[in-house]
Amino acid sequence: MTKEAIAGQTGIQQSLQVCAICGNYSAFSSEQLQCPTCGNDIYLRKHKSLQKTWALLITAIVFIFPANLYPITYLLKNNILYPDTIFSGIITLIEGEMLGIAIIVFIASILVPIFKIVALIFIVIAVQRRWQLSARKQLIIFSFVDWIGRWSILDLFVISIMVAVFDKGNLLSVYPGIAATSFTIVVITTLFAAYSFDTRLIWDARQRKTPIHHQQHSQDCNHND
Ligand SMILES: [Zn+2]
Repeated sequence: MTKEAIAGQTGIQQSLQVCAICGNYSAFSSEQLQCPTCGNDIYLRKHKSLQKTWALLITAIVFIFPANLYPITYLLKNNILYPDTIFSGIITLIEGEMLGIAIIVFIASILVPIFKIVALIFIVIAVQRRWQLSARKQLIIFSFVDWIGRWSILDLFVISIMVAVFDKGNLLSVYPGIAATSFTIVVITTLFAAYSFDTRLIWDARQRKTPIHHQQHSQDCNHND
């Protein structure tokens, strides 16, 4: 019943739609944007993908400042509270001759979040401005951002272990600081920013005839939500 999909062309070019729920593809018309198999509403691209990705990226940019400028942990030692930011924590690790851990914390807590934000901004702007870049290279960058995202949680894992191990309340205790909350928000928003971005927009941007905003707009109009 459904015509064969051709590799190397987008679904829109072939008037094909794919259902996010059951995964079936079918022919679409501007009036018919429901899945013939399960009846689910179909969006040709993730609903408001670029807007959601931007909103989450801006949130991440806002929270990356308190995450790095405020204390992420408080160490209570002999009744004196020692605050540590991510950066001062790394310096402490280096001074304590734990260079390996310091490098891991530096990569996971400083380099990775910044790289993720910069890379996603680059890809989103490249799509919006229709920069004629290699779609494959953009997808490799995106896949790397997507893959590395799960490792950003490493720092929070270290803090939670430190709190659990040291929190005996007597001589030595560790408390999470305000930056721990901010850092969590950065990790979560960048994860969802990558999830919200529809990689098919990279290919749409390479076709001058199908304006990205028009596609998204017409989708929004068809779904009165
Ligand atoms: Zn379906």
